[in-house]
Amino acid sequence: MSEVYFLKIKKQSPKILAEAGKKISKVFSNFFDSGDKVAIKLHFGERGSQTYLSPILVRAIYQKLQKKVEKAALVDCNVLYKGERSFASSHKKLARDHGFGFAPILILDGEKGDEEIKIKINKKHFKEIKVGKGIKDFNAILNISHITGHGITGFGGALKNVGMGLGSKGGKLEMHQAFRLEINPDLCQGCGTCQSECPVKAISIKNDKAQIDYQKCIGCGKCISVCPFEAVEIPWGASSAKDLQERIVEYAFGILKQRKTFFLNVLLNITPQCDCVREKQKPMVKDIGILGSQDIVAIDKASLDLVGKNYFEKPGVDPSFQIDYAQKLNLGEKDYKLIEIK
Ligand code: SF4
Ligand code: SF4
Repeated sequence: MSEVYFLKIKKQSPKILAEAGKKISKVFSNFFDSGDKVAIKLHFGERGSQTYLSPILVRAIYQKLQKKVEKAALVDCNVLYKGERSFASSHKKLARDHGFGFAPILILDGEKGDEEIKIKINKKHFKEIKVGKGIKDFNAILNISHITGHGITGFGGALKNVGMGLGSKGGKLEMHQAFRLEINPDLCQGCGTCQSECPVKAISIKNDKAQIDYQKCIGCGKCISVCPFEAVEIPWGASSAKDLQERIVEYAFGILKQRKTFFLNVLLNITPQCDCVREKQKPMVKDIGILGSQDIVAIDKASLDLVGKNYFEKPGVDPSFQIDYAQKLNLGEKDYKLIEIK
């Protein structure tokens, strides 16, 4: 049974978050050594998002960690869709604008997202995976995930932050290839909202109905979230949502093997969509706190349990499938003991 540490936070303020960062850092104080080079993986938040990870919290964690280890930096990789987070220079600027300029910031797959290393894994979907090249300079990862819902996988936690997050652009494309959305013509009103929101212009309106160009679609799921008539569907019985979850988990497997890893899941501002959404979102539930564990499976299971699985379910999507698959790959175990930090 794995240990998951739990720091309750009912209300947020800069002071409370700074204190919380110091407190939660105690759970990994004996885990990292003086010779470790630690990549702190996080999502800096898309422009317009207001509920991304608090830089005050991350700064407090970074300050504790960097005193202990040889090197620590905040890292992420570029995204597939067009925007500030698709190039390293604008990605870093956005991170600084969002308050993360207190530490070195590295975008591991380079300026255009094409600098990658290949890691052999020999799993069901992938023989090898494509990961941001800069990860080779780190022997350890401290993964800080903001718990949110997600358009396709239902739930976004540590598995997704590592697996999808550290894939190069080529890697992200491979993961998304599992995925094919459909427009329900009976529900589509031809309003064009999905067309204007699609980051790669994959949607056109013909005869008052939306159509997806699958050659262009990168599977970001944004059209599902923005459609006011719930006309964008993951086909019932289709394996696409499960396939995507399996692919993300296989990436996490490859990235985590042979590296020291510790996980923090932040259950604050828990929104229906992830921090790639360029708009203000309303949290689905009250703030819960922060979890810490060495076990990526246990920490995601505990996060799902504490929020409530029902908040992440959608037709055709079981949000816990990724956790089951990760256990199957021996990434960790679902059985956990919650230990409250006072
Ligand atoms: S947002 Fe929904 S209703 Fe509007 S065009 Fe797109 S699929 Fe159709
Ligand atoms: S999932 Fe939807 S919004 Fe995203 S790229 Fe494909 S068609 Fe566009």
